[in-house]
Amino acid sequence: MAKEGWILMNRFLYQKPSQGDRGFRLSRRQLLASMGSLGVSYCCGCRSAPMTGRRQLVFIPKSMEMSLGEQSYADVISKSTPSQNQAWIDAVHRTGQRIAAVANAPGFQWEFRLLASPTQNAFCLPGGKVAIYEGIVPLCQNEAGLAVVMSHEIAHALAHHGAERMSQQAGVQGAGAVLGWAMSETTPMTRELAMRAFGTGTQYGILLPYSRHHESEADEIGIQLMAKAGYDPAEAPLFWGRFGNAKSSDQAPPEWASTHPSDQRRAADLAQKLPQALDLYQSAASRYGRGERLV
Ligand SMILES: [Zn+2]
Repeated sequence: MAKEGWILMNRFLYQKPSQGDRGFRLSRRQLLASMGSLGVSYCCGCRSAPMTGRRQLVFIPKSMEMSLGEQSYADVISKSTPSQNQAWIDAVHRTGQRIAAVANAPGFQWEFRLLASPTQNAFCLPGGKVAIYEGIVPLCQNEAGLAVVMSHEIAHALAHHGAERMSQQAGVQGAGAVLGWAMSETTPMTRELAMRAFGTGTQYGILLPYSRHHESEADEIGIQLMAKAGYDPAEAPLFWGRFGNAKSSDQAPPEWASTHPSDQRRAADLAQKLPQALDLYQSAASRYGRGERLV
């Protein structure tokens, strides 16, 4: 699909305009103005992801990100039922507090909730609002497995992945608007073809690869976080193995599956990161190994 999108885009950009079609053309001034505004935005929006140091383009102010996180969290909590499983609730709090203690996230107001739902999912919103659904706990098996899930989700928030994606989508929409405006004098059919090609190109060429990149980065930051918090990082590949088996069984695939990279790729990446994480684990202030069993 990605290839198809780019072929359509190229064919459109370089083909000769047909009769009655003035084709796609930006004046030099319009082009300079677009490039200039992109450059200014880039300089204003640069940040670095924690631990990986990757440069990011984020336009959303941190204050707005935090308040969006709080609103979304309040919304989810108001529509959910809290878990009654006290042993699991205690494990979620204990594990969360240990990860939060090493997360180096000033300004985060941490909250950890376990929700009564068979959904195999979890999330952490900007500002440190963490929710775990009961359905994923049996896959975790022990506290270290829970730490794999929680530190992966917390890593997304620490690295501002949500704000980065919102910024990318805003950028893509802005570029789409510029394209639409630049083509306002073309025939409707040509315009529609180009906008469709642009949509496919950005979806498969920019947005989806970035989404997979965020997942890999959350794995990388997450395994370091759990190790620093004192949980044996060797549990991470074991958890992903169980997760992969759950996906390939007859049961419905866990919700995480739809947005995360392939298990083979994830296992290979984690194996590469494990030695460094084991070093961090060895120098952790307290070590809990696999922690308590949960099932
Ligand atoms: Zn993720």
